[in-house]
Amino acid sequence: MSEETLQFRNPEQAEQLADRLEALMVEVDGPVNLMHVCGSHEQAIAKFGLRSMLPDGLSLRMGPGCPVCVTNMPEVDEAVAVANQGAIVATYGDMFRVPGTKQSLADARADGADVEIVYSASEAVELAEENPDEEVVFFATGFETTAAPTAAILVDDPPENFWVLSAHKYVPPAMEVVAEMPDTDIDGFLAAGHAATITGYGLFEPFVEEYEIPVVVGGFEPIDVMLGIERLLEYISEDVAGLENAYPRCVTREGNRAALETMWSVFEKTSGEWRGIAEIPGANLALREEYADYDARERFDVEPETGGPDPLTEQCVCGDIMAGKADPDECDLFGEECTPGNPVGACMVSSEGTCKIWHEYGGHP
Ligand code: SF4
Repeated sequence: MSEETLQFRNPEQAEQLADRLEALMVEVDGPVNLMHVCGSHEQAIAKFGLRSMLPDGLSLRMGPGCPVCVTNMPEVDEAVAVANQGAIVATYGDMFRVPGTKQSLADARADGADVEIVYSASEAVELAEENPDEEVVFFATGFETTAAPTAAILVDDPPENFWVLSAHKYVPPAMEVVAEMPDTDIDGFLAAGHAATITGYGLFEPFVEEYEIPVVVGGFEPIDVMLGIERLLEYISEDVAGLENAYPRCVTREGNRAALETMWSVFEKTSGEWRGIAEIPGANLALREEYADYDARERFDVEPETGGPDPLTEQCVCGDIMAGKADPDECDLFGEECTPGNPVGACMVSSEGTCKIWHEYGGHP
């Protein structure tokens, strides 16, 4: 482990920050609801037991920050439909077992479809190059951090037997929807540091101005998270809707301009349903007209499955969890009918899913 990592895992500093949070909560003099928007934050919080260090009255919930979890069931159905039409579907491993209406990609593979797990968009291109007589479709999921690399391969003339099925999502509009939900009542957002390396923290300036809710961009070591919470509480105690970059070793105000330019040259924002949350204007990333030749939706029949999912799936409250309205242990299926070995909802599949993380760390972490 590097010196720098150890520095951000210093238990004494964590204790000092916990004391500082306690003092700030006295100043605030009332309950505070914070939301982070990233599965990696939830992993750090659970792994290092950070919730146990928070003062009474301070709630820290996970929002719509797991890209696998917010991928809508019809989008999984589209990938399954493409696989069942004979194309090779390349997918990130986290998506492999996410349930669709009738099948997951894992089910499709068990029934004979060719589904390959890749670790990057460029690996999906390699798959197309290695299989020139096959049609290869990359099921492109994730937020800005993976949308930018998907865009980079499309501007680089991929082979003609390569297509993209975009289920990429764009986080800021989802934060707006959550901020507007009457029953969530969020006092501050801890924004994801890795997405901000691409977008820059300046992206949140209009949000802070419009919604008058403080936003702090945070990293993923325990001290990063505690510092982010400290800054949010400071803003709340001062009644200031501020914006701060608490992850300056990786994030700048402008972000990665070249990656952003490439991303917006390939994708445009469209309205789309985030699983279990809402139809969110501008929160899906679709391929622009100029890239229609690479668009799997133009090449394949991706009509959605008819009929609803099985009754057990309808009991899944993953959407409420990602909107900050429920915790995993409030779901009747948590740890019983729904486990990582037998997931009912997407939140139990992904390593960034709150249910999977809570299950791994033994309940309410
Ligand atoms: Fe959905 Fe399973 Fe989580 Fe319940 S425990 S909300 S069924 S993923």
